Amino acid sequence: MKERKREKEKWSKFCPKCGKKTNELFDSLCKDCFIKQTSLIDADLKVNVNVCANCGGYFKGKGKERTSIEEVVVDAVMKELIKRYGYECKIEIEELGQEQKENESRAIVYLKVNAEIKGVEIEERGDVEVIFKKETCERCSRIAGGYYEGIVQIRGMNRIPTDEELAIAEKIAYASVGEADFVSKEMKLKEGRDIYVSSMECGRRISKQIVKKLGGSFSESRRLYGRKDGKNVYRVSFSVRLPTRA
Ligand SMILES: [Zn+2]
Ligand SMILES: [Zn+2]
Repeated sequence: MKERKREKEKWSKFCPKCGKKTNELFDSLCKDCFIKQTSLIDADLKVNVNVCANCGGYFKGKGKERTSIEEVVVDAVMKELIKRYGYECKIEIEELGQEQKENESRAIVYLKVNAEIKGVEIEERGDVEVIFKKETCERCSRIAGGYYEGIVQIRGMNRIPTDEELAIAEKIAYASVGEADFVSKEMKLKEGRDIYVSSMECGRRISKQIVKKLGGSFSESRRLYGRKDGKNVYRVSFSVRLPTRA
């Protein structure tokens, strides 16, 4: 009420759209007209999400980064609103409804968007359409192709590891594989085990964990395997040596 009184005393402009007298214009409109003409959620907001035909995972770009539908939608809406209204506006997006999968290629996500644009707070609720594109994610295509960057070679120091040690080492290996990584194959050799893994980091993690649990040490040796995206790709062998027994 206080504010209205002040407006009455001070107004000197009027809105060209509705004719209302006001002392504050936003983009040459009164607050109500400005809010009416500002749209946060509309049919122009279309979001594309890649979905892996093999594992059903959602991902962005080339399929390296796994994500959720909601994350992609919030990201895309945020980007679009910044494009429309500039970096200085404040935007908060809340997801209100779980995705409604209408069919194989389309879903709807219900959102609430709160924005502050040119000092005016606007809240809008609405549906955003999500369009799915079927692809094979990088992880799945790598698994299918038997891809590996690391080999963990488990051996004993001047001896052959026991079955028990190898069983523990295998358990550790599988438990240390991160979500993005995978074991490509495992070779049972009479002198130990070779475990092929998708990344160098994964191989190193496994080697560290095995040494931590069973003792001994490991060393790394790498060789150039090829180039990808302008970078050298190496294959790394991790030579794990379990300690001699007293
Ligand atoms: Zn107006
Ligand atoms: Zn996949």
